[in-house]
Amino acid sequence: MRRLEGKVAIITGAARGIGKATAILFAREGAKTVIVDVLRDEGEETTEYINREVHGGAALFIQADVSEADDVENMVETVIEKLGKIDILVNNAAIQPVGTILETDVSTWDRVMKVNLRSAFLCCKYVVPHMIKNKSGSIVNVASVLGLRGGDKIIAYATSKAGLIGFTKSLAEDLMPYNIRVNAVAPRAIDTQMFRAYRSEEEIKKKVDRYLFSRLGRPEEVANAILFLASDEASYITGEVLVVGGYC
Ligand code: NAD
Repeated sequence: MRRLEGKVAIITGAARGIGKATAILFAREGAKTVIVDVLRDEGEETTEYINREVHGGAALFIQADVSEADDVENMVETVIEKLGKIDILVNNAAIQPVGTILETDVSTWDRVMKVNLRSAFLCCKYVVPHMIKNKSGSIVNVASVLGLRGGDKIIAYATSKAGLIGFTKSLAEDLMPYNIRVNAVAPRAIDTQMFRAYRSEEEIKKKVDRYLFSRLGRPEEVANAILFLASDEASYITGEVLVVGGYC
C-alpha cells in the first residue's frame, strides 16, 4: 500500500526545487497532487512529468500567486470542484531576498511577509474548512533553520520563517479538535535555485564543511521529511518543527 493512496494534496511553489521533489514523491506514494505556482511553464512541465513518468500519477497544475487572497480562494475552489476534497496542504512557496536591516527597503520587507507568511495564512484559511468537513487533514509548512536561530544579512526572510513557525504551533492548537495536524520542516542548506541565487560557487565551496555531512542537502531529502509529516505515519505528531540538515 502506498503511503498517500487516495489522498488529495496541494503543494504550493511546486514548479521547481523542494516543492517539485515533494510533488513527485507524493504522486509516487499515490496522492492526487495539485501543483500551485506563479511559474506557468515550469509548473506545467512538472505536472506533465508526473502524469507521464509516475505510474498512476495524477497531477493538476493551477497557476496562482499564493500571496493574493483571490488567487488562493479560486485555487481551492478549483481543487474541490475537480478532486472533491483536500487531505494535505504543503505551504512551500517562498522568496528569499537578502540584506541587513539597512539594506532592506520597506517594500521588500512587505513583499517577503506577503509571499512567505501571508500565503500560508491564506492557503490555510481557505483549505481548513474543507478539512474540518472531513474531520481530518495534515498541513506541513516549509520554514527554515533561519527561522529558528536567525541568520546574518537575511533579516526579512529569517523573520518570515520565524513567523511561520509561530503560525504552525498556534494553528496546531486550534485545529487539534478537528483531527487536523499542523507541522513544519526547517531545512538548512538545500541545493536549489533559491539557495544558489545569492551564493557563488566559490562561497559554497568555502562554506560546505560547515554543512551537515559537508555537502548541500538534496530537495528529495526535504521531500522525505515532508512526506513523513504529511502521512498517517505521523498521526500522533502535531505542532512540531522537523529540522532537515542540522541545526547549527
Ligand atoms: P525555489 O525558489 O527553487 O522554489 C520556490 C518556488 O516557489 C518557485 O517555484 C516559485 O515560483 C514559487 N513561488 C514563489 N513565490 C510564489 C507565489 N507568490 N505564489 C506561488 N508560487 C510562488 O526554492 P526552494 O529552495 O525549493 O524553496 C522551497 C521552500 O524551502 C521555501 O519555503 C524556502 O524558503 C524553503 N527553504 C529552502 C532552503 C534552501 O536552502 N533551498 C532552506 C530552508 C528553507
